[in-house]
This record gives sequence, structure tokens and C-alpha cells, in this order.
Amino acid sequence: MNTLTLPTFDDVVAAAARIEGHAHRTPVMTSRTVNEAFGAEVFFKCENLQRIGAFKFRGAFNALSKFDAAQRRAGVVAFSSGNHAQAIALSAKLLEMPATIVMPHDAPAAKVAATCGYGANVVIYDRYKDDREQIGRDLADKHGLTLIPPYDHPDVIAGQGTAAKELFDEVGPLDAFFVQLGGGGLLSGSALSTRALSPDCRLYGVEPEAGNDGQQSFRTGAIVHIDTPKTIADGAQTQHLGHYTFPVIRRDVDDVLTASDAELVDCMGFFASRMKLLVEPTGCLAFAAARQMKAQLQGKRIGVMISGGNVDLARFSELLANAATAG
Ligand SMILES: *Cc1c(COP(=O)(O)O)cnc(C)c1O
Repeated sequence: MNTLTLPTFDDVVAAAARIEGHAHRTPVMTSRTVNEAFGAEVFFKCENLQRIGAFKFRGAFNALSKFDAAQRRAGVVAFSSGNHAQAIALSAKLLEMPATIVMPHDAPAAKVAATCGYGANVVIYDRYKDDREQIGRDLADKHGLTLIPPYDHPDVIAGQGTAAKELFDEVGPLDAFFVQLGGGGLLSGSALSTRALSPDCRLYGVEPEAGNDGQQSFRTGAIVHIDTPKTIADGAQTQHLGHYTFPVIRRDVDDVLTASDAELVDCMGFFASRMKLLVEPTGCLAFAAARQMKAQLQGKRIGVMISGGNVDLARFSELLANAATAG
């Protein structure tokens, strides 16, 4: 078995230079209501206000920026129905290279349209019949495309780590930091920045209660695979951590926590009504876990990642209306 070369904080610093002027330096927001409720200082890093509406633009742009001339000419391929698809499509457009995105036949029309709108070539597959990885690999082989996965890639991880780097650069060291966990690109990148810039900070990954493969993996020391979890947190419906993300998480993260769908909806309502922020369900995971630990966080300085804001308004209203009738 060959050993992997894991990304380091130096890679995050290099990624920050590459994305500068292309990615937004997103705002860090605070809320007096939250600070009073927590008896603590809470800093929200607002990646819902990033380009394409999620942090994934950082990793995608960093990875594509490193392509050589031949890779640029042939272009990139990715398979995703979500934020990674739009991140790759926009990055490819900005860097003037062709992009092919492999999407399931039941992907929301708005997401397909957004991806096409960035000029990407969309290839549809049948979620129940086709093997998307095989389709991606075939396209890569046949046309010389470079496959960029949504999380398990050193350049993607380094790019995602720039959001946490910006947070620490702006507010200084923290006592605790809560970050969403799907496949682990955001969390492992954030871990590199945390250990470099705020070494004593307790770092927590947060995933949906319905799919706690990351928690199981973290606690047992081996990557656990699960079926696609049923949760409204569609950005974290991953089935397993990656070969690059897992060792970094295991080494640098303090614990992995979970949040229920009901808690996520509650946080969505809070962000919208009190902070005027539109946050997608997955983007609420970190704050939901911080609220669970409120009693232990008194008097501390706390970072909370808001990872994305891509939820259509009909879905947003439906989730909040259902929660209201459920009391
Ligand atoms: C992809 C995504 C996540 C999870 O990120 P990973 O790098 O897969 O762990 C969290 N929130 C949002 C909004 C996402 O798009």
C-alpha cells in the first residue's frame, strides 16, 4: 500500500493566495441575542454568502487553478447534484476550461439549470441503474478529463481550509469551533487552519444524526460505510469519509457530534428571523451542536461555520411550516 501525502497548513496558505480576488472573503457575523443566550462570544463565518452560495467554491477553484496546460485544454469532470457541481462549473468558467458535470436524473431542475448556466456540459445518469463513478471514469479516460471529487482530494481540502483561516485571521484564537461534516473536506481543511492558528481550540465536526458514519469512524479509528442517510441536510448525505480527510480528522479534531433534522429547522428559522441570513439545512449543523453544548461554553470564544445557503424558498417555507404545525 502506498502512503498518502496529506495536505498541510502550507497548502492552505498557498490556496488562499490562489483564490484571492476570485472567492469572496466572507463576513464574520455576531449576534447580541446569541451572545446573551450563550453567555459567550460567538463568531459566525458566513459561507452562505460565498460565490455559488457555499464554501465549495474555494476547494474547486483551488484545485482547477493547479491544472497544467494539457489538463486545462481537456477540462474537468465532476459528479454531483449539489454545491460541488456549481462550484466546479463556475470555477471552470472563470478559468476558461471545459467542464462536464455528471448529475442524477432526479436532480432539482433549478440546480441543473444553474450548472448549465455556467456553461458546463451536463451528463444525466439514472441514480438507480448507473454507476456514476464508472461514468465519470469513462469520461475521464475517453476524453482525457481530470476528475475532481467533492472532498477527497488534497487541493480541495486545502481550498476548504481557507474559510477557517480567514476566521482566525480576523478574530484571533478561539476556545471552541464547530464545523459541518459530510465527506470531511471542510472539516479536515478547517482542522489544518485550526491547529496552525489556534492550537488549543477544541474543534468539533457535526453531522446529521441520521448518518453518523463520521462519528463512528472517528471513535473506532476505521472508515465506516453507511447507506445514504435520510436527512434534510442534503450537503452531508455522504456514505463515508475519504482516504485523505479521515486521517486529518482523526489526528486534529477533538470530537464528532450530531444534530437532528428538527434542530436544523429550528436553526434555519433563527438565522432567518434574527440574523437575516438564509441558511440551508446542512449549513445549520454547526450552530445546532453549539446550542447543545451551551452550558459548557459559558465565557468562551466560539466559532460557528455557516457552510451554505442554497435552499429554494418553497422548500424553506415547507420545512418551517411543518415544524410550526408540529409545535
Ligand atoms: C458539501 C457541503 C458540506 C459538507 O462538506 P464536506 O467537505 O463533504 O464534509 C456542508 N455544508 C454544505 C453547505 C455543503 O455544500
